Amino acid sequence: MIVVLIGAPGAGKGTQADLLAARDGYRKLSTGDALRRQVKLGTEIGRKAGAIMERGELVPDDVLLGIVKAELESGSRDDVILLDGYPRNLAQAEALDGLRQIHAVKGALHLDVERTELIERLSGRLVCSQCGATYHKSGAAPKKAGVCDRCGGGVSQRADDRAESVAVRLDVFEKNTKPVLDYYKRTGVYRRISGQGSQEAIYTELRKVIKEG
Ligand code: AMP
Repeated sequence: MIVVLIGAPGAGKGTQADLLAARDGYRKLSTGDALRRQVKLGTEIGRKAGAIMERGELVPDDVLLGIVKAELESGSRDDVILLDGYPRNLAQAEALDGLRQIHAVKGALHLDVERTELIERLSGRLVCSQCGATYHKSGAAPKKAGVCDRCGGGVSQRADDRAESVAVRLDVFEKNTKPVLDYYKRTGVYRRISGQGSQEAIYTELRKVIKEG
């Protein structure tokens, strides 16, 4: 079964998906991470997607469907798959439902965070290019500037966390992804969860909602 994590950029989907995968054994697919890997490898998909991602716009739906379909077709039917960053528009939500024979969407969990808080989080976010650990310029910076505490990799700002791209990404969320929330309200799998509060408290709430089904 599929559990979709929906939230604006900076809402904490990735952090929570990582916690749920590590502690509860769920499988996770972050479409943003998958695309960034393609960019790094310089594949055809990566070459197409790189510039679009830097601007903060959406990569074409057919590219995403290919990535998601491959992931759903691998592994076991009994797996719980967390989708982080997909679907991001109505066409993607419908395409995902088209794959229900392989895995059906059992929950769409909306991590809700206010826009001012999102801007604060994103504009200060720093990421390790090697292991993906995240830091924040104020309060949670790495011990040594530019170096990951966990793996020693390089820590820097994501190109799409610069102010111009952040504004585009938040607008894309309002315009394209908000309708997906209504879609899941109609199909009856929608749940709102506040994304403001401690990481642990949010994790506990998400875990409970997923387990309750
Ligand atoms: P994320 O790491 O989830 O913030 O995604 C980073 C970027 O990857 C987004 O701003 C988009 O350019 C692209 N991306 C990720 N997921 C999708 C998706 N489902 N549809 C279109 N583009 C996506």
